[in-house]
Amino acid sequence: MSTEGGLRRRVKGLSEAEFRQRYGTEEACRAALFALRWGKGWACPSCGHGRCAALKGRPLYQCNRCKRQVGLTAGTVFHWTKLPLTTWFLAIYHLTQSKGGMSSIELARRLGTRQPTAWLIKHKLMAAMQVRDAGKPKLEGRVEIDDAYLGGARSGGKRGRGAAGKTPFVAAVETTAERKPRRLRLTVVKGFRQREIETLAKCQFAAGSNIVSDGLSCWTAVAAAGCTHFPMVTGSGAQAAKWVPFTWVNTALGNIKTALAGTYHHVSAKHAQRYLASFAWRFNRRYQLDTLTERLAYACTRTEPHPYRAIIAG
Ligand SMILES: [Zn+2]
Repeated sequence: MSTEGGLRRRVKGLSEAEFRQRYGTEEACRAALFALRWGKGWACPSCGHGRCAALKGRPLYQCNRCKRQVGLTAGTVFHWTKLPLTTWFLAIYHLTQSKGGMSSIELARRLGTRQPTAWLIKHKLMAAMQVRDAGKPKLEGRVEIDDAYLGGARSGGKRGRGAAGKTPFVAAVETTAERKPRRLRLTVVKGFRQREIETLAKCQFAAGSNIVSDGLSCWTAVAAAGCTHFPMVTGSGAQAAKWVPFTWVNTALGNIKTALAGTYHHVSAKHAQRYLASFAWRFNRRYQLDTLTERLAYACTRTEPHPYRAIIAG
């Protein structure tokens, strides 16, 4: 269930039965992957020839002219995987359909794999989400931003800005003029310092954007990216009480905290950006629940391999 502008809109996901029908066999997954990767036409990476033949029994395609063989998964997130594609598609399904993501223990149970295998699959898929959204245009127009922390003590610990052991990140929501959310970006920062915010703003906000924030002094640095800053100092009185500028940032942050607390006991700082990117990816496609499986599979075919050593490096 999603709420926008006071209207409740039910967004239908993909049922397990529908999923099994589309991606339940290795053959179906291979065909789906081939269509996602080369639907607009296969082209030989060696000679550019447009025709190939599928090799029997293996996910390999051979150029009809120069006989170069190309693996279906080569050069993608699934790069030469030894796992069945059905396992990958099932992982994609579970990670995209569950609102708060899924722990690797739970994912392993659903996939029938060992936990470390499920963990690696999950992180590779989250990397694809991250790469996909990083390639999208900068946020523009009206953008609400806020500072937040991930990890550390969940309750009873130190609260507020600068709490130790937590990963600081910036939440930015592009909204319509009516303050309905469009797109969300969650970015880990070293701290809430002007130089950090300047770098982030240049990378993520289009020049001319109107950045709405609270009174934290670092936000003025968005001016260096050609943005206008509207500091909304939380005041008292009837006006302040009536007007809540950060509704959507706060809603998004609240959802993330709830999901993380419910699903994961600990998110290491090294992997925080990947977790945050996966939440943003899903938020940004909240009205496309029925096509999320193919959207993420498509992103995987357009994302370079992320081997284990790259994943653990963070
Ligand atoms: Zn060729």
